[in-house]
Amino acid sequence: MGTIVEITVASDDKKRANEAIDAGFREIKRLEQLMSTYIPDSNLSRINDSAGVSPVKADREVLYLIKKGIELGDLTNGAFNIAVGPLVKLWGIPDKREFIPSKKEIGLLLPVTDYHNIQIDEEKGEVFLKKKGMRIDLGGIAKGYAAERAIAILKEKGIDNAIVAVAGDVKAIGKRPDGKAWHIGVKHPREKEKLLRTVDLSDMAVSTSGDYERFFIKDGILYHHILDPRTGEPARRSQSATVVASEGIVADALSTGVFVLGPEMGMELIERMPDVEGIIVDSTGKVFVSSGMKDK
Ligand code: AMP
Ligand code: MG
Repeated sequence: MGTIVEITVASDDKKRANEAIDAGFREIKRLEQLMSTYIPDSNLSRINDSAGVSPVKADREVLYLIKKGIELGDLTNGAFNIAVGPLVKLWGIPDKREFIPSKKEIGLLLPVTDYHNIQIDEEKGEVFLKKKGMRIDLGGIAKGYAAERAIAILKEKGIDNAIVAVAGDVKAIGKRPDGKAWHIGVKHPREKEKLLRTVDLSDMAVSTSGDYERFFIKDGILYHHILDPRTGEPARRSQSATVVASEGIVADALSTGVFVLGPEMGMELIERMPDVEGIIVDSTGKVFVSSGMKDK
Protein backbone atom coordinates (compact mmCIF):
# COMPACT_ATOMS: atom_id res chain seq x y z
CA MET A 1 0.00 0.00 0.00
CA GLY A 2 2.96 2.27 -0.42
CA THR A 3 3.40 2.72 3.29
CA ILE A 4 4.59 1.11 6.51
CA VAL A 5 2.43 -1.48 8.23
CA GLU A 6 2.99 -2.48 11.86
CA ILE A 7 1.26 -5.33 13.63
CA THR A 8 1.63 -5.65 17.40
CA VAL A 9 0.23 -8.63 19.27
CA ALA A 10 0.14 -9.38 23.00
CA SER A 11 -0.12 -13.09 23.68
CA ASP A 12 1.46 -15.73 25.93
CA ASP A 13 1.87 -18.04 22.92
CA LYS A 14 4.75 -16.82 20.77
CA LYS A 15 4.16 -19.27 17.94
CA ARG A 16 0.50 -18.39 17.69
CA ALA A 17 1.35 -14.69 17.80
CA ASN A 18 3.85 -14.99 14.95
CA GLU A 19 1.52 -17.04 12.79
CA ALA A 20 -1.27 -14.54 13.37
CA ILE A 21 1.01 -11.64 12.46
CA ASP A 22 2.04 -13.36 9.20
CA ALA A 23 -1.60 -13.96 8.35
CA GLY A 24 -2.37 -10.30 9.08
CA PHE A 25 0.31 -9.13 6.64
CA ARG A 26 -0.94 -11.58 4.01
CA GLU A 27 -4.43 -10.13 4.36
CA ILE A 28 -3.14 -6.61 3.74
CA LYS A 29 -1.21 -7.78 0.66
CA ARG A 30 -4.37 -9.45 -0.61
CA LEU A 31 -6.31 -6.20 -0.31
CA GLU A 32 -3.54 -4.27 -2.04
CA GLN A 33 -3.85 -6.60 -5.03
CA LEU A 34 -7.54 -5.74 -5.31
CA MET A 35 -7.52 -2.02 -4.66
CA SER A 36 -4.23 -0.52 -5.71
CA THR A 37 -4.30 1.89 -8.63
CA TYR A 38 -0.57 1.21 -9.07
CA ILE A 39 -1.20 -2.42 -9.98
CA PRO A 40 -2.39 -2.39 -13.61
CA ASP A 41 -4.58 -5.49 -13.38
CA SER A 42 -6.09 -4.88 -9.95
CA ASN A 43 -9.88 -5.00 -9.89
CA LEU A 44 -9.96 -1.25 -9.29
CA SER A 45 -7.58 -0.52 -12.18
CA ARG A 46 -9.84 -2.50 -14.49
CA ILE A 47 -12.88 -0.50 -13.36
CA ASN A 48 -10.95 2.72 -13.99
CA ASP A 49 -9.65 1.62 -17.39
CA SER A 50 -13.22 1.05 -18.56
CA ALA A 51 -14.43 4.53 -17.59
CA GLY A 52 -16.87 5.83 -20.18
CA VAL A 53 -16.77 2.52 -22.02
CA SER A 54 -18.36 -0.33 -20.09
CA PRO A 55 -19.37 -1.61 -16.66
CA VAL A 56 -16.93 -3.95 -14.93
CA LYS A 57 -17.64 -6.77 -12.51
CA ALA A 58 -16.43 -5.52 -9.14
CA ASP A 59 -14.93 -7.65 -6.44
CA ARG A 60 -17.28 -7.86 -3.42
CA GLU A 61 -14.96 -5.88 -1.15
CA VAL A 62 -14.12 -3.28 -3.79
CA LEU A 63 -17.84 -2.75 -4.33
CA TYR A 64 -18.37 -2.43 -0.58
CA LEU A 65 -15.68 0.23 -0.27
CA ILE A 66 -17.00 2.14 -3.27
CA LYS A 67 -20.49 2.18 -1.75
CA LYS A 68 -19.15 3.24 1.64
CA GLY A 69 -16.98 5.86 -0.06
CA ILE A 70 -20.02 7.37 -1.76
CA GLU A 71 -21.97 7.41 1.54
CA LEU A 72 -19.10 9.09 3.36
CA GLY A 73 -18.78 11.51 0.45
CA ASP A 74 -22.39 12.58 1.02
CA LEU A 75 -21.78 12.85 4.77
CA THR A 76 -18.83 15.21 4.25
CA ASN A 77 -20.60 17.26 1.57
CA GLY A 78 -18.20 15.96 -1.04
CA ALA A 79 -15.02 16.89 0.87
CA PHE A 80 -14.24 13.18 0.90
CA ASN A 81 -14.46 12.14 -2.73
CA ILE A 82 -13.35 8.75 -4.05
CA ALA A 83 -13.65 10.07 -7.62
CA VAL A 84 -10.74 12.45 -7.05
CA GLY A 85 -8.48 9.97 -8.90
CA PRO A 86 -7.73 12.04 -12.03
CA LEU A 87 -6.45 14.89 -9.84
CA VAL A 88 -4.40 12.54 -7.66
CA LYS A 89 -2.80 11.23 -10.82
CA LEU A 90 -2.19 14.73 -12.22
CA TRP A 91 -0.43 15.93 -9.07
CA GLY A 92 1.35 12.62 -8.62
CA ILE A 93 2.27 13.56 -5.07
CA PRO A 94 3.30 10.16 -3.80
CA ASP A 95 5.81 10.07 -6.70
CA LYS A 96 9.19 11.72 -6.52
CA ARG A 97 8.60 14.43 -9.11
CA GLU A 98 7.66 17.87 -7.86
CA PHE A 99 5.02 18.99 -10.28
CA ILE A 100 2.56 21.84 -9.92
CA PRO A 101 -0.18 21.61 -12.51
CA SER A 102 -1.66 24.76 -14.04
CA LYS A 103 -5.16 26.01 -13.19
CA LYS A 104 -6.12 25.07 -16.74
CA GLU A 105 -4.98 21.46 -16.38
CA ILE A 106 -6.85 21.19 -13.09
CA GLY A 107 -9.95 22.84 -14.58
CA LEU A 108 -10.07 20.29 -17.37
CA LEU A 109 -10.21 17.43 -14.88
CA LEU A 110 -12.70 18.82 -12.35
CA PRO A 111 -15.71 17.73 -14.49
CA VAL A 112 -14.58 14.09 -14.30
CA THR A 113 -14.26 14.02 -10.52
CA ASP A 114 -17.96 13.88 -9.63
CA TYR A 115 -18.63 10.73 -7.63
CA HIS A 116 -22.32 10.94 -8.55
CA ASN A 117 -21.22 9.59 -11.93
CA ILE A 118 -20.23 6.29 -10.37
CA GLN A 119 -23.00 3.92 -11.33
CA ILE A 120 -23.52 0.73 -9.36
CA ASP A 121 -25.53 -2.25 -10.54
CA GLU A 122 -26.15 -4.06 -7.29
CA GLU A 123 -27.71 -7.12 -8.92
CA LYS A 124 -24.91 -7.70 -11.40
CA GLY A 125 -22.25 -6.51 -8.95
CA GLU A 126 -20.94 -4.10 -11.57
CA VAL A 127 -19.49 -0.64 -11.43
CA PHE A 128 -19.61 1.81 -14.33
CA LEU A 129 -17.81 5.14 -14.39
CA LYS A 130 -20.07 7.14 -16.66
CA LYS A 131 -17.51 9.61 -18.02
CA LYS A 132 -14.30 8.91 -19.85
CA GLY A 133 -11.29 9.91 -17.80
CA MET A 134 -12.91 9.13 -14.43
CA ARG A 135 -10.80 7.26 -11.87
CA ILE A 136 -11.73 5.96 -8.46
CA ASP A 137 -9.04 6.30 -5.79
CA LEU A 138 -9.60 4.38 -2.56
CA GLY A 139 -6.41 5.76 -0.97
CA GLY A 140 -8.42 7.73 1.58
CA ILE A 141 -10.41 4.75 2.86
CA ALA A 142 -8.50 1.53 2.08
CA LYS A 143 -5.92 1.79 4.86
CA GLY A 144 -8.62 1.91 7.50
CA TYR A 145 -10.30 -1.07 5.92
CA ALA A 146 -7.02 -2.97 5.73
CA ALA A 147 -6.31 -2.34 9.43
CA GLU A 148 -9.76 -3.59 10.30
CA ARG A 149 -9.46 -6.72 8.13
CA ALA A 150 -6.05 -7.57 9.60
CA ILE A 151 -7.55 -7.31 13.09
CA ALA A 152 -10.36 -9.65 12.02
CA ILE A 153 -7.77 -12.18 10.84
CA LEU A 154 -5.85 -11.90 14.12
CA LYS A 155 -9.06 -12.61 16.01
CA GLU A 156 -9.71 -15.67 13.84
CA LYS A 157 -6.26 -16.87 14.85
CA GLY A 158 -7.18 -16.61 18.51
CA ILE A 159 -5.58 -13.24 19.26
CA ASP A 160 -7.55 -10.91 21.55
CA ASN A 161 -5.05 -8.15 22.19
CA ALA A 162 -3.45 -6.37 19.27
CA ILE A 163 -2.81 -3.20 17.30
CA VAL A 164 -2.60 -2.93 13.54
CA ALA A 165 -1.24 0.32 12.13
CA VAL A 166 -1.35 0.95 8.40
CA ALA A 167 0.52 4.27 8.40
CA GLY A 168 -1.83 6.67 10.20
CA ASP A 169 -4.70 4.20 10.34
CA VAL A 170 -4.76 2.25 13.55
CA LYS A 171 -7.17 -0.32 14.90
CA ALA A 172 -6.74 -1.82 18.38
CA ILE A 173 -8.46 -4.64 20.23
CA GLY A 174 -8.20 -5.76 23.84
CA LYS A 175 -5.55 -4.41 26.17
CA ARG A 176 -1.83 -4.22 26.76
CA PRO A 177 -0.21 -7.02 28.79
CA ASP A 178 -0.31 -4.78 31.89
CA GLY A 179 -4.08 -4.55 31.59
CA LYS A 180 -4.13 -0.93 30.47
CA ALA A 181 -5.65 0.34 27.22
CA TRP A 182 -3.34 0.70 24.23
CA HIS A 183 -1.90 4.22 24.03
CA ILE A 184 -1.79 5.67 20.56
CA GLY A 185 0.34 8.74 19.98
CA VAL A 186 -0.94 11.34 17.54
CA LYS A 187 1.97 13.07 15.83
CA HIS A 188 2.47 16.78 16.03
CA PRO A 189 2.05 18.00 12.46
CA ARG A 190 5.03 20.36 12.61
CA GLU A 191 7.39 18.96 15.26
CA LYS A 192 8.54 15.58 14.11
CA GLU A 193 9.52 14.03 17.42
CA LYS A 194 6.65 15.52 19.37
CA LEU A 195 3.23 14.07 20.10
CA LEU A 196 0.17 16.23 19.95
CA ARG A 197 -1.72 13.94 22.30
CA THR A 198 -2.09 10.31 23.22
CA VAL A 199 -5.38 8.50 22.81
CA ASP A 200 -6.45 5.39 24.76
CA LEU A 201 -7.87 2.88 22.35
CA SER A 202 -9.66 -0.42 22.77
CA ASP A 203 -11.89 -1.98 20.15
CA MET A 204 -11.80 1.29 18.25
CA ALA A 205 -10.09 2.74 15.22
CA VAL A 206 -8.18 5.99 14.92
CA SER A 207 -7.02 7.64 11.74
CA THR A 208 -4.88 10.70 11.14
CA SER A 209 -4.59 12.59 7.88
CA GLY A 210 -1.78 15.12 7.73
CA ASP A 211 -0.14 17.46 5.24
CA TYR A 212 3.28 16.25 6.47
CA GLU A 213 2.86 12.66 5.25
CA ARG A 214 3.45 13.05 1.52
CA PHE A 215 4.47 16.47 0.36
CA PHE A 216 7.02 18.73 -1.26
CA ILE A 217 7.85 22.39 -0.74
CA LYS A 218 8.36 24.72 -3.68
CA ASP A 219 8.89 28.48 -3.40
CA GLY A 220 7.96 28.26 0.26
CA ILE A 221 4.60 26.63 -0.44
CA LEU A 222 3.78 23.17 0.86
CA TYR A 223 2.07 20.86 -1.60
CA HIS A 224 0.63 17.66 -0.18
CA HIS A 225 -1.47 14.64 -1.08
CA ILE A 226 -4.90 15.53 0.32
CA LEU A 227 -6.81 17.45 -2.32
CA ASP A 228 -9.78 19.74 -1.95
CA PRO A 229 -12.17 18.33 -4.57
CA ARG A 230 -13.67 21.78 -5.14
CA THR A 231 -10.41 23.47 -6.12
CA GLY A 232 -8.41 20.47 -7.29
CA GLU A 233 -5.49 21.70 -5.19
CA PRO A 234 -4.03 20.58 -1.85
CA ALA A 235 -6.56 21.35 0.90
CA ARG A 236 -5.48 24.42 2.89
CA ARG A 237 -7.64 24.52 5.99
CA SER A 238 -5.78 21.99 8.18
CA GLN A 239 -2.35 20.65 9.10
CA SER A 240 -3.81 17.44 10.48
CA ALA A 241 -7.10 15.77 11.32
CA THR A 242 -7.55 12.78 13.62
CA VAL A 243 -10.79 10.83 13.91
CA VAL A 244 -11.71 8.07 16.38
CA ALA A 245 -14.59 5.77 15.40
CA SER A 246 -15.55 2.16 15.89
CA GLU A 247 -15.12 1.30 12.21
CA GLY A 248 -11.74 1.72 10.51
CA ILE A 249 -13.23 2.81 7.19
CA VAL A 250 -15.29 5.52 8.89
CA ALA A 251 -12.27 6.83 10.83
CA ASP A 252 -10.17 6.78 7.64
CA ALA A 253 -12.63 8.48 5.29
CA LEU A 254 -13.65 11.03 7.92
CA SER A 255 -10.08 11.98 8.77
CA THR A 256 -9.47 12.75 5.10
CA GLY A 257 -12.84 14.52 4.73
CA VAL A 258 -12.53 16.50 7.97
CA PHE A 259 -9.00 17.55 6.97
CA VAL A 260 -10.49 19.08 3.82
CA LEU A 261 -13.45 20.65 5.65
CA GLY A 262 -11.22 22.33 8.23
CA PRO A 263 -11.86 23.06 11.91
CA GLU A 264 -15.30 24.71 11.77
CA MET A 265 -17.22 22.41 9.46
CA GLY A 266 -15.05 19.43 10.34
CA MET A 267 -15.63 19.67 14.08
CA GLU A 268 -19.32 20.33 13.51
CA LEU A 269 -19.52 17.02 11.62
CA ILE A 270 -17.56 15.12 14.29
CA GLU A 271 -19.82 16.47 17.05
CA ARG A 272 -22.92 15.58 15.07
CA MET A 273 -21.94 11.93 14.71
CA PRO A 274 -22.59 9.60 17.64
CA ASP A 275 -19.49 7.76 18.92
CA VAL A 276 -17.10 9.74 16.75
CA GLU A 277 -14.41 11.96 18.28
CA GLY A 278 -11.58 13.94 16.80
CA ILE A 279 -8.72 16.42 16.90
CA ILE A 280 -8.14 19.03 14.20
CA VAL A 281 -5.07 21.22 13.83
CA ASP A 282 -5.91 24.19 11.66
CA SER A 283 -3.63 25.89 9.14
CA THR A 284 -2.17 28.17 11.84
CA GLY A 285 -1.42 25.32 14.25
CA LYS A 286 -4.40 25.91 16.55
CA VAL A 287 -5.68 22.64 18.05
CA PHE A 288 -9.39 21.78 18.26
CA VAL A 289 -10.53 18.78 20.34
CA SER A 290 -14.05 17.32 20.23
CA SER A 291 -16.14 17.50 23.41
CA GLY A 292 -16.11 13.76 24.15
CA MET A 293 -12.32 13.65 23.94
CA LYS A 294 -11.34 16.59 26.10
CA ASP A 295 -11.15 14.47 29.28
CA LYS A 296 -9.60 11.39 27.66
P1 AMP B 1 -5.48 9.73 3.84
O1 AMP B 1 -4.03 9.47 4.03
O2 AMP B 1 -6.38 8.69 4.40
O3 AMP B 1 -5.91 11.10 4.27
O4 AMP B 1 -5.77 9.64 2.28
C1 AMP B 1 -5.08 10.42 1.34
C2 AMP B 1 -5.15 9.73 0.01
O5 AMP B 1 -6.51 9.69 -0.44
C3 AMP B 1 -4.38 10.47 -1.06
O6 AMP B 1 -3.06 9.95 -1.18
C4 AMP B 1 -5.22 10.21 -2.30
O7 AMP B 1 -4.91 8.93 -2.83
C5 AMP B 1 -6.62 10.17 -1.76
N1 AMP B 1 -7.28 11.49 -1.67
C6 AMP B 1 -6.74 12.73 -1.78
N2 AMP B 1 -7.67 13.69 -1.59
C7 AMP B 1 -8.83 13.04 -1.33
C8 AMP B 1 -10.17 13.49 -1.05
N3 AMP B 1 -10.49 14.78 -0.98
N4 AMP B 1 -11.12 12.52 -0.86
C9 AMP B 1 -10.81 11.20 -0.92
N5 AMP B 1 -9.58 10.74 -1.19
C10 AMP B 1 -8.59 11.64 -1.39
MG1 MG C 1 -8.19 8.75 5.35
